[in-house]
Amino acid sequence: MKIILLGAPGSGKGTLAKKISKDFDIPQISTGDLFRAIVKEDSELASKVREIMQSGGLVPDEVTIEIVKERIAKDDCKKGFILDGFPRTVNQAKALEGISQIDTVILVDLANEIIIDRLSARRTCPNCGEIYSVQDNPENVCKKCNSPLIQRDDDKPETIRHRLEVYEQNTSPLINFYSDRIFKVSSAGSPEETYSPVKTFLSEMEGKVE
Ligand code: AMP
Repeated sequence: MKIILLGAPGSGKGTLAKKISKDFDIPQISTGDLFRAIVKEDSELASKVREIMQSGGLVPDEVTIEIVKERIAKDDCKKGFILDGFPRTVNQAKALEGISQIDTVILVDLANEIIIDRLSARRTCPNCGEIYSVQDNPENVCKKCNSPLIQRDDDKPETIRHRLEVYEQNTSPLINFYSDRIFKVSSAGSPEETYSPVKTFLSEMEGKVE
């Protein structure tokens, strides 16, 4: 199954992607994670991407599309994959059509006020990528690998607002682009409540796709 997770930053795509990945045994491809890995390198591209990410803007389409194309070509994607954070522009979506045939687009829906609260409280494990909120993990240590948690630079309030504007302007037009393939779910409840209808939907679809 080839799945796109669409939704604003902080709507819960990453958490949902991890659950789908585990149950349906397909890899989560997060362009944000791929870029966070690139930023650690010492290269011209790394410093360019670092600057863009810190501002909350988008990495140029050509760079992003190339990275996704390479990732999708790997062996572990033969059975399918979950795109988390890609495409983010209509240009990227059009390019993806030439690379792979997507089965479904899951739109993760959440009001901006809740997104701002959740992102401000989000803490991430820099080692394994696990996501927590300060309220649920006041010890600030990853429960999976014991690494000290960090707040992503772009989860600071001033950058969050900009990222939401960028989403509204560049990414929300994709809701129309994919209108024939969208399954919408609210992520206002717990991660389990969000996942439940998605799991049912994907289980039904799995039989048809394979
Ligand atoms: P995320 O972890 O998905 O919130 O992504 C973090 C940052 O990585 C974004 O704010 C962008 O700067 C960059 N990024 C991730 N995915 C894309 C994409 N598909 N196109 C352009 N920039 C991206």
